[in-house]
Amino acid sequence: MRILLILIALAIIVMLVKRMWLPPRTGSQPDKRLPGEMVRCGHCGIYLPEQEAVRDGDRYFCSKEHLDADHGNS
Ligand SMILES: [Zn+2]
Repeated sequence: MRILLILIALAIIVMLVKRMWLPPRTGSQPDKRLPGEMVRCGHCGIYLPEQEAVRDGDRYFCSKEHLDADHGNS
């Protein structure tokens, strides 16, 4: 009879531990960080996130240097 009590106690402990380990159901975690559009530097051709690019009209550059360089070349 004692073994039965121990088994029940163990089962309760296992259930409690499992419940603790299970991640809380916070289901909806909106990831607001959009990856962002990748744009291509008009001078050297590397890709970079649009928000980090230097924009010149409808063209993008990886840096101000390349924007100026491109203007100088053309
Ligand atoms: Zn560049």
